[in-house]
Amino acid sequence: MPEPSPSDPAKPEIYDLHCHSTASDGSLSPTAVVQRAHGHGVTALALTDHDTTAGLIEAQACAATAGIKLIPGIELSAQWQSQCFHIIGLGIDPAYPPLAEATHILQGTRMNRAERIAEKLAKKNIPGALAAVMAAAGDGMVTRSHFADFLVAGHHVDTQQEAFDRYLAKGKAAYVATPWAELAEAVGWITGAGGVAVLAHPLRYNLSANKMRKLLAVFKEAGGQGIEIVTGRINPDEIKRAAQLAKNFGLSGSTGSDFHTPDQWVELGRLAALPANIQPVWELLN
Ligand code: AMP
Ligand code: MN
Ligand code: MN
Ligand code: MN
Repeated sequence: MPEPSPSDPAKPEIYDLHCHSTASDGSLSPTAVVQRAHGHGVTALALTDHDTTAGLIEAQACAATAGIKLIPGIELSAQWQSQCFHIIGLGIDPAYPPLAEATHILQGTRMNRAERIAEKLAKKNIPGALAAVMAAAGDGMVTRSHFADFLVAGHHVDTQQEAFDRYLAKGKAAYVATPWAELAEAVGWITGAGGVAVLAHPLRYNLSANKMRKLLAVFKEAGGQGIEIVTGRINPDEIKRAAQLAKNFGLSGSTGSDFHTPDQWVELGRLAALPANIQPVWELLN
């Protein structure tokens, strides 16, 4: 008897709808991410690099060979009331011109920010950051994670977290405010591209209940349909809180590891189940 394939209709899909490759701040190529996801039992994977879709063609080719479903995705940086939020786009057409143009502009935005972060680090007697992060990012998006790695490698800090706490986080010595697009506009790029917009890791923004309500109203008004409920290192109480937000605001629930690097982040596909009373966001994907 033949082995049941991952797309066997009798076998439930195992979803991981949030992860990163070398197209942004992940350490594995798109091919390696897809292969690793497959190896960990994922049957439907969304690659969601920061502000870029550049890894999707390679990921799609590998997914077709490996027999795993690849959902084209992105994690867009956007701002609302001067705070940065991450919006996951799932099932997007990367060729949709406004989205393609936006990612092109975001590449320049990120490069300008990188230059200014490097200048600030140089003023703190830490030279050479720009060349290092550009080399590390290669063709991919330059992110603050690359700066954190540079600071760790140069023994300026011991961990990525310390790099953010001392230099890169808002209000710290090398922080540079970035002119991200408005949240509603970013949601529009995703829905215009045929995708479903999902608010990433909602509990990481430290919003009051009142501000969360306002944010989700703006997000829904713009066409947002989902919210991440199971993400990264989330505990059962946090899953309950995020699920309550989904219920209260009529949003579908998503699940994704936010995988970046083996052994440093939650493993691909290693995710708690979505609460049973939540509509899974994949039911909105065609
Ligand atoms: P960027 O989009 O370039 O501002 O970089 C954001 C990325 O940096 C996030 O996706 C995380 O991977 C990482 N990051 C942001 N804040 C922190 C933090 N406090 N500690 C560790 N990593 C962080
Ligand atoms: Mn990241
Ligand atoms: Mn994020
Ligand atoms: Mn992410």
